[in-house]
Formats: sequence, C-alpha cells, structure tokens
Amino acid sequence: MPAEAVPRTYLCQRKGNPTVEHSGPGTPAALTPAETDPYAMALSQFDQTAARLELSPGMRGLLRSCKRELCVHFPVRMDDGSLRTFTGYRVQHNLTRGPSKGGLRYHPQVTLDEVRALAMWMTWKCAVVNIPFGGAKGGVVCNPKEMSETELEGLTRRYTTEITPLLGPASDIPAPDVYTDERVMAWMMDTYSMHVGYTVPAVVTGKPLSIGGSQGRLEATGRGCTIVIKEAAEHFGIRLEGAAVAVQGFGNAGSVAARYLQEAGARIIAVSDSRGAIHNAGGLDAVKVIAHKSKTGSVVGFPGAESIPPADLLESECDILVPAALEAQIVRENAPRIKAKIIAEAANGPTTPEADAILWENGVLMLPDILANAGGVVCSYFEWVQCLQKFAWPEPQVCDGFSNFMSRAFHEVYHMAQQRRVDMRTAALMLAISKVADATATRGIYP
Ligand code: NAD
Repeated sequence: MPAEAVPRTYLCQRKGNPTVEHSGPGTPAALTPAETDPYAMALSQFDQTAARLELSPGMRGLLRSCKRELCVHFPVRMDDGSLRTFTGYRVQHNLTRGPSKGGLRYHPQVTLDEVRALAMWMTWKCAVVNIPFGGAKGGVVCNPKEMSETELEGLTRRYTTEITPLLGPASDIPAPDVYTDERVMAWMMDTYSMHVGYTVPAVVTGKPLSIGGSQGRLEATGRGCTIVIKEAAEHFGIRLEGAAVAVQGFGNAGSVAARYLQEAGARIIAVSDSRGAIHNAGGLDAVKVIAHKSKTGSVVGFPGAESIPPADLLESECDILVPAALEAQIVRENAPRIKAKIIAEAANGPTTPEADAILWENGVLMLPDILANAGGVVCSYFEWVQCLQKFAWPEPQVCDGFSNFMSRAFHEVYHMAQQRRVDMRTAALMLAISKVADATATRGIYP
C-alpha cells in the first residue's frame, strides 16, 4: 500500500478534538503511573464521552461505577505437595442490557483496577455490536507458564468454585482471555455443572466443540479484527494488497489476525510475543510462524527473520499496526514515532488517552478495541445462544451472522464518526454509552 494512498486527515475536521501537551522533539516528561493505569484510562474515556453526550451527573455516577466486585484468596495444592494461596477477581461492571460477559485472564500482573477496566470496556463492546450482554471480567494473579497442567486445573476449579455465586448462564458468563484457553473453559464448565448437579454448557463460552463450543469461536477475535480493517480500508480508500503489517502479541487474537490479513494480501513484516520480536521487511509467513511458535513456544528464532527489540515493533515502518497483547503499550512517549497509518486494537486498552490524542493529531486512523476486537464476544454470544437452544448451528450460518454483526457495527461507528466529526474511538464510545444510558433510563430505577 503506497503511503500517499492513505488519507492523512481521514475525517473532515478535528476541531474540538482534545489537544495534547507533549514536549515535541525533546525528551517527554516521564510517564506517570496514572497515565498507564487501565482503570484510569477507562474512566478518562468514559468521562470525556459522557461530557460529549451531556449525560446527567446521576447517570454518569451510575455508569462509571462497577456494579459488583468480588476478590477471592484461595488455596491450591501444588505438585510438590505444598499449599499456595492465590488471589483472583471477578468484576461485573454493568448488567442493564443482559447478563454480564467477559473473559478470564491468568497473569502475574493482574490487578483489581485492570479487571475493573476490562469489565467496563466489555459493557461498551457488547453495546457497540448490539448483543444483549453487560460487561464483566475475571483475573487470577498467577504465572501459568510456571505451573503444571494439574496445578492449573486445580487453580481453575477452585477459582470457579469461589466465584460461583456470581456465575450462571443468566447472570455472568466467562470466556478465554490472556493465557486462558478452551481447556480452562472446559474445567470451568465442568466445575460449575458439578456444583449445580447437571450439565450447564451455557455458563462459559470459548469451550471445545465437543462440549458445546461454537464453530468459529477460536478464530473470532482475529477474524473480526480483519473484517473491521477491511471495512475501514474500503471506506477510507486504502489498499490492503501489499500493505505492511506489524502485530504485537502473537497469541489467539494476534496470530489469527495476522493469518487473515495475510490471506487478504497484506505482508506481515513483524510480530512479537512475551519473549521477543522478529522482523522481515520482505514478509513473514504467518502460518509458518504459528507452527514455529506452537513447536518452540515463541516466535523468536523463526528462520529467515531478524530479532528486533520488542519496543521497536510498534515504531516499525508499517501501514497497519495490530497491538494484540496488553494494555498501555502505545503511550505519550512512543506515539509520536508511530509510523502506521492504521492501528487496529485487537488487544483491550493498548492505547492511552494521551497517546490517542497525539495519533489523532498525526492523522492515524484508530480502530478502537471495543469495535476491532468485538468478534470474540459476538461469536461467544452465538455460542451461548446455541447452548441455550441446545442446537448447534452449521459453520456457514455462524460465519454469515458473524460478518453481518461486525460489518453493521463498523458502519454504525463510521456513520457516528462522520456525523459528529469525531475519531472512531469517540464515536464507538458515544454509541455504546448512549445505548446503555437509554436502557438504564427505560428500565427505570428500582425500587
Ligand atoms: P493469548 O494468551 O492467546 O496471547 C497473548 C499473547 O501476547 C501471547 O503470545 C504472549 O506471549 C503475548 N504477550 C504477552 N505480553 C507481551 C508483551 N509485553 N509484548 C508482546 N507480546 C506479549 O491472549 P489473547 O486471547 O490473544 O489476548 C490478547 C489481547 O486480546 C488481550 O488484550 C485480550 O484482552 C484481547 N482480546 C482477546 C479476545 C479473545 O477472544 N481471546 C477477545 C477480545 C480481546
């Protein structure tokens, strides 16, 4: 994709867009912890959008609070016979539009504030794609890479038991997130089913097909991200054929997005995971990198690629950047050096509000997380419906329904962005928050 083909100013005007204070070519002031705290980021996005929507102070107070927060400390018997105490969280941000939905993360740096932010983003995401769910998220502070399968199963079953009061197909439905997968979902479904005394497939999504999983769920996040990029490319007159793509985080979301973007004709020039980053300006074969990672545990060492410092990936010469790892990766400090013309957030919260403003000033087209990675929850919704119906849809039905949901969401956000002359994140948040506010007002306040 020739760089000139990308409209630098992709919306008619930027008046009213927040301006950024940053110190130009000199050394920017050090990032403060508050700038990269996911919950502070989520609240700042909410406050800006609520002001634009002119929500009443009462509605703002309600929607910016998490409805329920459960913190649990629980023991797990380790393989050497010792007992270890782990900390886990389950946060439900909002249930106005339906049961709460959101993934479960296993990571050593999980915090309550991170889980709150992720739960809030889930509420907005479900509203953007118009599925009848509220938002939730779970997390356990652990390092799954240093635990055996037996220890992980013990941890999952005990954590599920501890948060059982919140769970249920009509109340709160987990799914996979960072370092959790189908296997973890199967243990959760089995544990919950043992407690209630009968099988409840609809209590989690992202399960294996053999126990009520859906066709297409494994690929859904990366595939949905590619659909949104394709729609954006079409609407903003950008050619995907030959476009250079860099992907940070080569797990479920990132590796699948890389594979689908490659199928669409793009060239994957750099990818990374927690162990390092690799680069080849001529293009990396995404399918072969996936095979290499599944054999060796990392993208590092892929034949024919050079190793680069992981931070350089974000600033590499590319047309499309797909952050698909963790929050707060694109910050005030590195945002001015980003060369991509499009950023498609497969990860949740990879860009801080300060960085957002810089990217907007620089004409970068931002496809925000609550739209770009919503494919996972759309397909999870299909899985939940199939489990409740006790009827498995054939793959073409899932694929058609999926593409329609994603394209419709893109069009609604795009339309809002054009109409209100705002960036795509602001447009997506305006759509989502107004839907949740309307639902709240329509239901009324109990009692
Ligand atoms: P995953 O566990 O499958 O993969 C995460 C990947 O990120 C791994 O390859 C890991 O090595 C890499 N990683 C971790 N730290 C990194 C770092 N500092 N730099 C570079 N790479 C790093 O997780 P996932 O499900 O693909 O989730 C990734 C992101 O996508 C998260 O933000 C998650 O919330 C979001 N997301 C996932 C889904 C889904 O359906 N899985 C849906 C929506 C959003």
